[in-house]
Amino acid sequence: MPQQLTLHCIACDHSLPATLIYRCPDCDGILEVVRPKPEGRDWRRADFVSDAVTLGEGSTPLRELRPDLLHADFRGSLFIKDETRNPSGSFKDRLVAAAMSRALEFGATGVVSASSGNAGAAAACYAANAGIPAIVVCPEATPAGKLAQIVAYGAQLERVPGHYGNSFQHAMKLCAETGYANLTTTYLNPYGVDALRLVGQELYRQRGGMIPDWIVVPTSSGPLVKGVFQGFMDTAGRTPRLAAAQAEGCAPIVRAFAADQTEVHSWDNPKTIASGISDPLLAYAEEGSLTLSLIRQSQGAACAVTDAAILEAMADLARKAGLFCEPTGATSLAASRNLFMKGEIGPNDTIVCMVTGHGFKDFAAWR
Ligand SMILES: [Zn+2]
Repeated sequence: MPQQLTLHCIACDHSLPATLIYRCPDCDGILEVVRPKPEGRDWRRADFVSDAVTLGEGSTPLRELRPDLLHADFRGSLFIKDETRNPSGSFKDRLVAAAMSRALEFGATGVVSASSGNAGAAAACYAANAGIPAIVVCPEATPAGKLAQIVAYGAQLERVPGHYGNSFQHAMKLCAETGYANLTTTYLNPYGVDALRLVGQELYRQRGGMIPDWIVVPTSSGPLVKGVFQGFMDTAGRTPRLAAAQAEGCAPIVRAFAADQTEVHSWDNPKTIASGISDPLLAYAEEGSLTLSLIRQSQGAACAVTDAAILEAMADLARKAGLFCEPTGATSLAASRNLFMKGEIGPNDTIVCMVTGHGFKDFAAWR
C-alpha cells in the first residue's frame, strides 16, 4: 500500500501523480483518486488506511427498524447505517483515517482541519494517536460538545467568526504557513473522499448483495454521496436512488435540484440546528454541483426538511429505536418521511438512512 494511485481532475480530465495536492493545478477542479480495482476481492480498509493510523473505523452496523418509524402507512423495509459507532462518533473518521495515512506517507508533520465539529474531532483523535500536532478551525457557533472533544484529544482549537466558509479559508492559510496536510473533509482531500467508497460496498454486502431502492444521506458538500455511489458501482455495477437530505435553512443542493439546474450556487445566511450540514458552499459551490450530478445519475432526489422535523426524527430514533444521534444524523429519517409523503418513496420500498453523528456531540440540541 498504496497501490499505484493517481489523481484525476473531474473538471478537465487531467491526470497527475498522487501527492499532497488538493485541487487541479490547471483548472482548480476537484480531484479524485484513481486506483486499480483489487483482483478477485472487495476493497478492504487496509487498502485505504495504514495499520499505524487505523482505530477500527468503518464496518458499522446496518440495522432494520420498524417500518412505522418512517410512517404509519409505510409497509416496506427501513434500515439505518449507524455511523455513530465510529471511534470519534461520526463517519468523518473514515475520511480522516485515510487522509491521515496518505499525509504521513507523503511526509506531513502535522494536520489542519476546517470543520463544523465532527471532522475536527476526527482529525484531533487520529492525530493524537499518530503523535502529530493538529490544528482544528471551527465556526464560533460550533456545538460545545464537539469543541470539548477536539480539545480533549489535545488539538489546537481556533474559532473563527461567521459560518463555515470563513473557517475553510482560514485553514487554507494555516496549511500554507505551516506546511501541514489539509484534512478538511469537503471534497478537498481526495484521499479522504476515496475511502468513503467502503460505505457503499458495506451497504451492498451487509444484506447479501441487496440494492435498496433508496439511500438517504445527510448532505453538505456531499463526499458521502459520492462514496455510496462509487461503492455500489464498484461492487454491484449500479446504484440505488440516492437522496441528499438538507436542512431548509441551508439547502443549496435542494434548491438547484428543484429548479432543474445543473449548477449549485452558494447559500446566503445558513441557519439550522443541524450544524454538520450548515455549510453554505461559499468557496466551492462546484462541489455541490458534483454531488447533484451523482444524485441525478442515480435517479435520486434532494429534499429539505425543517429543524422541527429534524428534532422529531432525532427524538424518535432515540425513543423508538435506541439510537442517540445529533440533529444532522437524523435529517436522513426526516427527509425519508418527507419523500414518502410526497410519493417519491413508495409504500413497499427498501430505504437506508445514513445516521452520521452521535448524540453526545450536541447535548444542547436535546434541551
Ligand atoms: Zn483540471
